[in-house]
Amino acid sequence: MTMKVASILGVPFSTRSFDETVADLVERIQSGERTHVVTANPEIVMVARENKSFRTILEQAYVVPDGIGIVYAAKWTNQPIRERVTGIELLEALMREADRKHWNVYLLGAAPDVNRLAAERLAERFLGARIVGYRDGYFQKNEEEKVAQEIAERKPHLLFVALGAPKQDEWISSYWDRLQVPLVMGVGGSFDVIAGKVKRAPVLWQKLHLEWMYRLLSQPSRWKRQLAIPRFVFTVLWEKWGNRS
Ligand code: UDP
Repeated sequence: MTMKVASILGVPFSTRSFDETVADLVERIQSGERTHVVTANPEIVMVARENKSFRTILEQAYVVPDGIGIVYAAKWTNQPIRERVTGIELLEALMREADRKHWNVYLLGAAPDVNRLAAERLAERFLGARIVGYRDGYFQKNEEEKVAQEIAERKPHLLFVALGAPKQDEWISSYWDRLQVPLVMGVGGSFDVIAGKVKRAPVLWQKLHLEWMYRLLSQPSRWKRQLAIPRFVFTVLWEKWGNRS
């Protein structure tokens, strides 16, 4: 399967639209090709710039453009990324497929009550999908092997991992061989949204491309992390114009 890619500050992104991404991932699952999906935003790209081993993980993964900053960066550098492919929407689209195809699903991560609530909500909404297991994301380092082993034994088709980025993607990469799951995706704070603990930005804010600002206003403690956004914009434009001589 060929992967259509754009390079954003050295990170390879899929250029597929949302619907094309879902179709492509379903085809991969059905053909037995294993995929690690990373939904990456400007923060993640900036982490990759400073962290070589994380960059290697992204080079081997299926990276989709979460975050409007990635879509703009592609525009500024004349690359064909048309729209955002967000983690929460991809999770829901894959659950619709799991519902139709009776796939097994495992949910790893978030606080215990959030994890359980998210599992309950998804089980109610997608009756045909089988939630074969769920577990919170606050286990010790020495329990990791056991956690991975238990997931592998449940044989999910889909594994959603909510440990926050980049931790979740490092975890997925470390246990990749052990897990043997067709599709594994880091989903950040998505379980908190599904469980109703955190609200996603209203649609109007999303349409105005201000979801990042809503997030900053509703979770102000994130401001330090979000400093990566102006640094990202500056770096993309600097690489485009600044070092031309
Ligand atoms: N989390 C977890 N274990 C950890 C650290 C974080 O399960 O050791 C969970 C946390 O409870 C939350 C999610 O990971 O549900 C991270 O959410 P955040 O909104 O920070 O996602 P990000 O923006 O980092 O993708």
